[in-house]
Amino acid sequence: MPLNVPIVENILSANDRLAEENHSRIEAAGVFSINLMASPGAGKTSLIEKTLPRLTDKFRVAVVDGDIATSLDADRAAAAGAQASIQINTGGECHLDAVMLHGALNQLDLKQFDLLIVENVGNLVCPADFRLGTHKSVLIASIPEGDDKPYKYPGMYRGVDALVINKIDLLPYIPFKMDFFQRGVEALNQGVITFPVSCSTGEGLDAWIDWLIQNIKR
Ligand code: MG
Ligand code: ZN
Repeated sequence: MPLNVPIVENILSANDRLAEENHSRIEAAGVFSINLMASPGAGKTSLIEKTLPRLTDKFRVAVVDGDIATSLDADRAAAAGAQASIQINTGGECHLDAVMLHGALNQLDLKQFDLLIVENVGNLVCPADFRLGTHKSVLIASIPEGDDKPYKYPGMYRGVDALVINKIDLLPYIPFKMDFFQRGVEALNQGVITFPVSCSTGEGLDAWIDWLIQNIKR
């Protein structure tokens, strides 16, 4: 049976209302916040692990981690220096929604933090439809996923404010046509700020960290 469109629209508008409320709370506390999205294995947690040690001497960072099960990623964020890390187990849901983030925000004294990183569930489809109330949406693509992902997941690529391209150290070994990939991105999201990085070698991470710091200070 096809999905009932009015019901889906009601769910999304209820989500958007709560996302607005989340946004007001985050904004009132003076915290910069990002919604980090990617397919499974693209390197969300690895990027968090590489990012936190370069921020936590000057800034206080909270990480909210969405996963279908386990608290492994929240544990890794805590080990990397997050001053708070909260795990949301979605109970099978393949995305975070504003209600889940709302529950996590209730566990944080937001005024204590400068940066809030929300690690969404690994999935390139529905996380794009559920606003959480963060300031920026960040997508991590990775070289082993292939260069056709903007063409296959336009909804995700269209909606993001920044794009990290991870695992660029693997470019010599994988037939990934960067021109083709970037043409696809440009067609959907012209001029989106892009950070080619390798979480393994550290290449490219400076520009990503600078972007975060500029936004934290704004
Ligand atoms: Mg992860
Ligand atoms: Zn989902």
